[in-house]
Amino acid sequence: MSEFTQKRITDAEALDLLQNMPTAELMAQADAIRKARHGNKTYYVHSHNLNPTNLCVVKCNLCSFWRPEGAKDAYITTLDDARKNLERAQNWNLTDLHIVGGMIPELDIEYYEKLFSLSREMLPGVLLQGMTAVEIHWIAGNAGLSIRETLERLKASGFGSISGGGAEIFHADIRKKIATTKILAQQWLDVHREAHKLGIPTNATMLFGHIEKDWHLIDHLSRLRELQDETGGFQAAIPLPFQTNGTSLGLKYGPSGDRQVRVAAITRIYLDNFPHVRMLVNYMDRKLLGVLTHSGVDDIGGTSLEERIAKEGGAPQSQKFFTAEEMEDFLSNLGHTPVLTNSVYAQVDGQPEVKAFPAAAVGSRRWKTILDRVEAGGRITAEDAAIIYNEAPFQELGRVANIRRCKAVPGDLATYVFDKNLNTTNVCVVDCKFCAFYTKPESGKAYARSPDEIVAEVKQAAEAGATQILIQGGLNPDLKIDYYEACLSGIRDNVDIWIHSLSPTEIEFIAAMEHISIKECLQRLKDAGLQSLPGGGAEILVDDIRKQISPKKTRSKAWLDLMEDAHGIGMKTTATMVYGFGETTEQRIEHLMKVRDLQDRTGGFTAFIPWSFSPDMTDLDCPRFQNGVDYLRLIAMARIILDNVPHLQAGWVTEGPDVSQLALQFGADDYGGVLMTEEVVSATGVNYQVDEDLVLHLIREAGWIPAQRTTQYDTIKVYDDKSVAKA
Ligand code: SF4
Repeated sequence: MSEFTQKRITDAEALDLLQNMPTAELMAQADAIRKARHGNKTYYVHSHNLNPTNLCVVKCNLCSFWRPEGAKDAYITTLDDARKNLERAQNWNLTDLHIVGGMIPELDIEYYEKLFSLSREMLPGVLLQGMTAVEIHWIAGNAGLSIRETLERLKASGFGSISGGGAEIFHADIRKKIATTKILAQQWLDVHREAHKLGIPTNATMLFGHIEKDWHLIDHLSRLRELQDETGGFQAAIPLPFQTNGTSLGLKYGPSGDRQVRVAAITRIYLDNFPHVRMLVNYMDRKLLGVLTHSGVDDIGGTSLEERIAKEGGAPQSQKFFTAEEMEDFLSNLGHTPVLTNSVYAQVDGQPEVKAFPAAAVGSRRWKTILDRVEAGGRITAEDAAIIYNEAPFQELGRVANIRRCKAVPGDLATYVFDKNLNTTNVCVVDCKFCAFYTKPESGKAYARSPDEIVAEVKQAAEAGATQILIQGGLNPDLKIDYYEACLSGIRDNVDIWIHSLSPTEIEFIAAMEHISIKECLQRLKDAGLQSLPGGGAEILVDDIRKQISPKKTRSKAWLDLMEDAHGIGMKTTATMVYGFGETTEQRIEHLMKVRDLQDRTGGFTAFIPWSFSPDMTDLDCPRFQNGVDYLRLIAMARIILDNVPHLQAGWVTEGPDVSQLALQFGADDYGGVLMTEEVVSATGVNYQVDEDLVLHLIREAGWIPAQRTTQYDTIKVYDDKSVAKA
């Protein structure tokens, strides 16, 4: 099987790609290289972390792990402590032990020799990866030894490879600001050179998303590529997203999802002589990590049990994996072949071969012909949509969807709305199996807000800047039409806010209780102040699915007819989709086609909003976890199919801030609501949070100009602060 040879690009070409190539295309380019190198194999390790001390004489500005002498949570791990720690880890079937920590005189070369010998004795066969080039340089200096002598002594005690930490950014201008007293770039590179000469494989990190500029990243990568040309000793390049917590750099945000994908992709494309690109799960949201494994990343790091450094930096602990099985499921769900290995990519018994380069299977490319037609402006049929949905690379769908987006919503704005979701009641008699929000009338948790309470909360929201109120709730037989009229007119008469509220399901229920027609019910609610209708309750507009997930709920035709009636009385609405109930591709397309057909007739839909089903706390199992790639594929398909619905909203509530930011590169033109409160999705335990400032940051980092909009997509304010220099 011929070894893959990757084309070498220049620094200028790399900078141009990083700064100018649309994200979906950059992902596709990097993914093609990753597939040529590893097929769909994705590597992971089952690792344990031992951080000997959090005291450190170096005190980097970028570090939230170190503690000053005397701090109550400062600690030093004695060899006895280490023995107890390792005893606990003996039955964990680890592949790696990762030893890294602060630098203090007490932890000298003798300490580390004993620690590695102890680890080798207690965890035979486990790769002892550890210590950064910074630590090695430091203990060598303290012992009056050369780097080579230090490495030889550590190797003799079981030390297997150098982790890539301490590289940060090599360029002196940045290094002196983020790691003032840390060793210089050349010293870091020299330690790795010595290690490579001694046959000790190493990894190399690059800390990004702080104060560096794009060209500092390319400079960093070029120095790594140069040393790799010389020694070939590096195994993996590890782009590390900067974590802001507890650091003294005064930065509010680390790198966003789009930024992480772009840096990972350029690392893969530029480092043509590095076998692997690794990004660490314990630094990010799982949905984003899934997308990264299709953007050049072939290794997701490890379980990193008891890892403290990223944790102190504020990395999301809820996203960590704790077992190799969990990581295997995660990778299989993404269509990868999971390969358990260690940090020098040694073969682990019972695992697929690590180093094979299977030729990527070339499927039919009929999707390309169809996508070319779509790119040229053609309208897609349901049959063709199913082909590209199932067969086209999602990055290619994203590329074309982005082109369609720019035609549908010209200009470089990406919008958001400042809104609040407010629920009238959690009492509902419809018992949808996918709903974790509702409760029975007789339950102790039942509530129903009075019209006065509703108006008071809406007033507060408007005072806080909300321009839209979305009131919805369960189908509560105690709440008649006069209740809703009182809520709506109370808001209309007392608060300057747009009332985008209720859902077809609620209106159908109210009309039935009042024994009046849908049209009459809509007209009365409109007369009371209802201005537009959110597209809730659509889930999947295919009755075979609806009968399974919500047997007592509005059928597809009734939902569509009600929206047609609303459009008929001049009321604009949105349309939604909740996917991931086990419906087929064809059923998802049937849903989108029904929305498109109605739009052809009425033009009443302002936007489409899809989000994935969150199964926790519901009565419905999730046939398959809907990952970030599934979401971006669906967003792109929505833009391609709904050629007559102007706006496409990203869905951070279920997909998280980072993957929904990427949706702005896959056809979405709107980031949705800042949402002061939300109770329905958070009832399932999915609890992402954003605020207006974060939304501005995410839209800017995605390369768009943020603009606050009204419910009807008129622009309220453009944050065209060109002062935000291009990174
Ligand atoms: S989704 Fe709506 S209609 Fe269904 S149970 Fe929940 S609150 Fe009731």
